[in-house]
Amino acid sequence: MKNKVLLVLFDGARPDALEKCGHPFYEKFLSESAYTLNAQTVMPSSTLPCHFSLFTSTDPDLHGVKTNWYEPSEKWIKTLFQQLNYSGKTCSTFYNWPELQFTWLHPGAMIQSVLHSTYLIETREANTKTAEAARKGIKEYAPDFVFLYIGAPDTAGHEYNWMSKEYMDSLNFSFSLLEDVCSDLPDDYTVILMADHGGHDDEHGTECPEDMTIPIIIRGRGFKPGDIFENASIKDVAPTVTDIVGAKPYPAWEGESLLNKIAKQ
Ligand SMILES: [Zn+2]
Repeated sequence: MKNKVLLVLFDGARPDALEKCGHPFYEKFLSESAYTLNAQTVMPSSTLPCHFSLFTSTDPDLHGVKTNWYEPSEKWIKTLFQQLNYSGKTCSTFYNWPELQFTWLHPGAMIQSVLHSTYLIETREANTKTAEAARKGIKEYAPDFVFLYIGAPDTAGHEYNWMSKEYMDSLNFSFSLLEDVCSDLPDDYTVILMADHGGHDDEHGTECPEDMTIPIIIRGRGFKPGDIFENASIKDVAPTVTDIVGAKPYPAWEGESLLNKIAKQ
């Protein structure tokens, strides 16, 4: 059986908020996973730079994207999508923040890419449609790698503050979407749940721990429930994905597979 990956990213989801949001699927998912609630993202802790670091496994100094306004960089590092494509693997993306498409860099790497833009569609509707599209796309194409982006927590954080009741509600809502997608997910998928950055007050982007600390939770074959990843970085996710699906990491990637970062007990 092939090993595939569904990567679900809750934008702006602080690890200390996951438990507090009170959704029962979080407890269940965590109990079946290897994880860290203390992984570090990169500076600036903003959405586009963090996603570039996620998909190029490098610091912003290396990939060159330092704001949410994308300008093509001279600095060229292969993305996870390109590297998977190069290894004969298929990829799909489902998202609701249009700027994320800049991180694909090579659109031909996608078998399917679906945007329900929160610029034009109400937040919950856009996120619900995005998750539904992922569920349908997985059934239709069974891609080796699926990226599902849920932007709702970040939107609530900016509007009502991180850790507010509305922010917790948006996390609760995000877990309901994740539970739906996981309810009929084929067994050959490992699920990675993570965030791009955290947040404090009504913002993020700084070096404070509330902005920099992210969860990375992995449920699937080869990941023992209860194992803890140590010294984990957002840059470790791309090499972890290539490791799981049996592809090679790009030589210039800086991160390391989380399978090599399990704490000794
Ligand atoms: Zn973000």
